[in-house]
Amino acid sequence: MTEVPLSLGQALGWAREQIDGVDARALLCHVAECSHATLSGFPERMLTHPQARTFERLVERRLIGEPIAYLVGAREFYSRRFRVGAGVLIPRPETEVLVEEALRRVAGREQLRVLDLGTGSGILAITLALELGARAESVVAVDRSAEALGYAVWNAGALGARVDFREGDWLAGLEGYQFDLVVSNPPYVADGDPHLARGDLRFEPVSALASGPAGLDDIRLIARSLGPHLAAGAWVLIEHGWDQAADVRAILASAGLAQVGSADDLAGISRVSFGRRRIDGTSAIAVD
Ligand code: GLN
Repeated sequence: MTEVPLSLGQALGWAREQIDGVDARALLCHVAECSHATLSGFPERMLTHPQARTFERLVERRLIGEPIAYLVGAREFYSRRFRVGAGVLIPRPETEVLVEEALRRVAGREQLRVLDLGTGSGILAITLALELGARAESVVAVDRSAEALGYAVWNAGALGARVDFREGDWLAGLEGYQFDLVVSNPPYVADGDPHLARGDLRFEPVSALASGPAGLDDIRLIARSLGPHLAAGAWVLIEHGWDQAADVRAILASAGLAQVGSADDLAGISRVSFGRRRIDGTSAIAVD
C-alpha cells in the first residue's frame, strides 16, 4: 500500500502521477473539504491520517474507472448540487437544454401541472419546481427504481423543492391525472451500443441507459401512453440520442402532437424533441 504524503500539495502530486489532474483535485477537495483556491493557495496544509487513507482509496477507485460523481457523491446541474451514487444516472450538462426549452415554452403561464418521467436523481423535477416557483401548481415525478427515488427525495429535501415522487412504470399509476408540461430523459441508448461498455456508463444502471435495439423503445412507450394525460396546450419535451431527433419527432407527431420540433445542445447536436397538444385538445390520443 502506497504511503500517501500528508500535505495537500504532496497528496495532489502523488495522485497526479496516477490519475487525471482535474480528477485528482476534485477528489482531494472532496476529502479535505476545501475549495480549489485553498488547494492552490495552501499546499502545505496537512491532511489527517483518515483523510489521507480515504483519498488513497478514492484514487484507487478512480484508477479502475469509477465515475468522479459517484466518488464525491454529487454532481452539479443547473447551478445546484445534486446527490448521486451508484444506482442512479449521473446528471449530464446537455440535459440543461431540456430545462431551458421547457421553461421557454411555458413562459408566462401559471398553475402548471408538471410531470417528470424517469426522474432518476430528481434533477428535472426539482429544477423545474424551483425555477417555476409559485407558477407550478404541482410537480409529479416518477421512476421505476426505488434506489433512484431515494436520491431524488433526498435532493428535493436538501434543495427545498416540493415534488410528489412516485415509484412506477412511466404513466402507469397516473390514471386520471392531467399535466401541462411533461418532461423526460428516458433511457435511449441502443442495447448493443459499445459506449455502454466504456467510461462512466459502465458504472451506471443499464436500466437508465439502454432501451431496445434502436434505443427508442421507452420513448415509444411514453408517447403511446401520454394522450389521456395531456391537458389542452400541454407541452411534451423528451431528451434523446444524437442521431434520434428525426425518429423522435416522428413518434411525437404520430402520437397526435402539434408544433413538433427539436432543439440543439451546446455542442450543436439535436438533443431534445418536443410537441404540443393542440389548444382545442383534438387528436392528442396516441396512435402507434
Ligand atoms: N446521455 C447519456 C449518454 O449517452 C444517456 C442518458 C440516457 O440514456 N438518458 O451518455
